[in-house]
Amino acid sequence: MLEDKNQKKTSLASLGEFKLIEHLTKHFTISQESTIKGIGDDAAVLDFKEKKVVVSTDLLVEGVHFDLSYMPLKHLGYKAVVANVSDICAMNAQPTQITVSLAVSNRFPLEALEELMAGITLAASIYGVDVIGGDTTSSQKGLIISITALGEASLDEITYRNGAQVGDLLVVSGDLGAAYMGLQVLEREKQVFQVNPNNQPILDDYTYLIERQLKPEARKDVKELLEKLEIKPTAMIDISDGLSSELLHICKQSHVGCNLYEEKIPIDPQLINVCEEFSIDSTTIALNGGEDYELLFTIKMDDYDKIKHNPNFTVIGHMVAENEGTHLITRANTKIALKARGWNALEE
Ligand SMILES: [Mg+2]
Repeated sequence: MLEDKNQKKTSLASLGEFKLIEHLTKHFTISQESTIKGIGDDAAVLDFKEKKVVVSTDLLVEGVHFDLSYMPLKHLGYKAVVANVSDICAMNAQPTQITVSLAVSNRFPLEALEELMAGITLAASIYGVDVIGGDTTSSQKGLIISITALGEASLDEITYRNGAQVGDLLVVSGDLGAAYMGLQVLEREKQVFQVNPNNQPILDDYTYLIERQLKPEARKDVKELLEKLEIKPTAMIDISDGLSSELLHICKQSHVGCNLYEEKIPIDPQLINVCEEFSIDSTTIALNGGEDYELLFTIKMDDYDKIKHNPNFTVIGHMVAENEGTHLITRANTKIALKARGWNALEE
C-alpha cells in the first residue's frame, strides 16, 4: 500500500560496495566522548575510561521480523536502532554507539537503502549514539539488518534481571499492548488492500497504536528519571516479547515469585476501543503483546512514596517468595498462574 511506482532507481551493482558504504555513511557524525575513531579504518576505537561497557546485538530478517508492505524503510531503520538501544537502557546503562550491518538483495535500489539509512541516522541522532561501523553484503532474497549497540554505566548502576527480592515492588514505564494491536490493524488493512488496491485505509482511530508499532521509542529517559527520584532499581528488563514473558524472566533469574494485578496494568484508552472492535481481551494483549519497548523493573518497597504519583511509571505488583509462584490477580480477585506466551504465540 506504500509502494511508489515512480521512484528513482539506482542499482546497487552500479556503485560497488566501497562507493555504496561511502555514500551511505557520509552523514554520520561523532558526538560521544568515548568514540575515538568511528567509521573509516579497519576497526573503531573506543575509550570508556572508568565506566563499564554493555553490549547487545540483534538480527532482523525480512518476512520474519518485518513486512515491507506496510513498514516504510525509514521506519524500519528507526525501529531497528530503537530495539537495540532499548536493550542497553534495560541494563540501566547509557547507549553510546551502534554498528549497523546489512544484507540486501538486488531488488533494492540505492534509494531504498537511503531511506533505511535515513531512519537509522534519525534514531542515532535522537538517542545520541554514534554509528561507528558495520558491513554491507548481498543477500539471495530480502533484507537482513544486524545492529550491535554499546552503552556505558558504572558498575553499581548496571541493573540485571536477577536482582529482585521478596517484597520489592514491580513497576512498568508507559503503557502496554498498543504496538501489538497496531500490528493487527496494519495486517487487517493489508488484507483489505490485497482484495481491493483502490481502497485507501482510514486509520484515524488507530494513530496511537500504529505509531507504537511503526515508530516505537526506547525509554532512554528512565535511567535519568529514576536518578532524579533517587531510586535505584533492583532488577530490570525491556518489554520486547510481552509483559508476562519478561516478568517471568525476572522471577526465574531472581528466584522470586510475583503477584501482578490486572487492574493496575497501564493500558491506553485507544487500545481498549480497538480490542473491543477486534473482540480481544485487552489484558491478554497487554500481557502477551510485544514490541512496546517499555521498561519493567523492581524497586524497594521503601521507594513507593517516591514513585507513586509519577506519571511515567505504574506500580503493577510485587515480588513474593519463589515457592508462592507467579500469579496474575484478576479484577474479579481470582489468582491465575502467569504464562509466557510471547506475542508470536498470539497468532495461533
Ligand atoms: Mg531485552
